[in-house]
Amino acid sequence: MNVFDYRHLGMDATIKKSMREIGGASISFDVPMSQYTTFKVGGNVDAMYRAGNLEELKEMMAFVVDEGIPYLTIGRGSNLLVRDGGLNGLAIIMDGAFTSIEHTTPAEPYIIAGPGLALHKLVDFCTEKGLAGAEFLAGIPGTVGGAVAMNAGSGGEEIEGLIRKVTVLTRSGVVERRDSSTLTFQYRGLDLHRGEIILHARLNLNFDKPASIRKRVTSNIKRRNERFPLDMPSAGSVFKNPDGDHAGRLIDAAGLKGRRVGGAMISPRHANFIVNTGRASASDIVALMDLAREKVREMFNIQLVAEIKVVGKG
Ligand SMILES: Cc1cc2nc3c(=O)[nH]c(=O)nc-3n(C[C@H](O)[C@H](O)[C@H](O)COP(=O)(O)OP(=O)(O)OC[C@H]3O[C@@H](n4cnc5c(N)ncnc54)[C@H](O)[C@@H]3O)c2cc1C
Repeated sequence: MNVFDYRHLGMDATIKKSMREIGGASISFDVPMSQYTTFKVGGNVDAMYRAGNLEELKEMMAFVVDEGIPYLTIGRGSNLLVRDGGLNGLAIIMDGAFTSIEHTTPAEPYIIAGPGLALHKLVDFCTEKGLAGAEFLAGIPGTVGGAVAMNAGSGGEEIEGLIRKVTVLTRSGVVERRDSSTLTFQYRGLDLHRGEIILHARLNLNFDKPASIRKRVTSNIKRRNERFPLDMPSAGSVFKNPDGDHAGRLIDAAGLKGRRVGGAMISPRHANFIVNTGRASASDIVALMDLAREKVREMFNIQLVAEIKVVGKG
């Protein structure tokens, strides 16, 4: 969560009323984040806003910034661990006009996708239109916004390689278009200024036959189904791979596959996945992360760094 000068511990009725005036039916209060994250754990957020258009989003943003209320933009919550005490402030989900996708077919084809668009829809769209290059995103359960913010990748490719432009809404309410040459991506990350919200991404693609694209998509999904424990809630890889090694290999070598804390377990199938076996709390997951860090540091002198974003109150 972006930590601003939050002057409201919990939201008082006046704040809620003003938010309702701006967001109407798109705003809800005391929403369980377990329903908005793929780990299916976490406490409540004070307010959740499904942003459907830019004008209203700007108004909501101006209000929360003015009031010193923190906010966090979320996609599918597939890279998020919300602590059991929940989130202060506002969670923003990009919906409505922010789930659009457009394409053009000049010599160099590209698409412009909204941040709320699910990656599987982007992949289906590209397959149908004969636009190649995004097949590596198949099976990643996030949105375009989350994928750009995380520089999502698979099989040696990252979304950075497709990005031509990203449009953001700054915390002061200005829409800025940034060319890829001015963006700093890293392994599983993009440098955004505090509180910036991704509004669109332009991705450059290539032409190919839909049947060939479909074949690569199917093969990527098959490979993922074989490797990953997709039958239980998780947030994908918990730790980033350290240089020249794999976090999963290190955690496995530390003897932690199958280790449980409460309802959370280090997957016996892929040691860099922590799965919720049914009744995990966020603190069970955090305890397993701490254990993995500690054992790997002890045995290999390597410091694991979290890939997932851990947010909220303990
Ligand atoms: C089973 C499984 C497999 C996975 N496999 C992969 C994989 O192969 N490769 C990979 O890279 N990841 C993988 N992930 C992790 C995750 O799916 C990706 O990181 C994904 O891109 C996150 O998208 P999201 O929409 O769920 O983002 P969220 O988890 O909701 O958010 C992630 C971050 O992005 C920020 N964010 C989201 N939307 C916006 C926006 N519009 N503007 C600004 N910031 C925003 C959030 O604030 C947060 O910091 C996997 C996850 C699961 C559960």
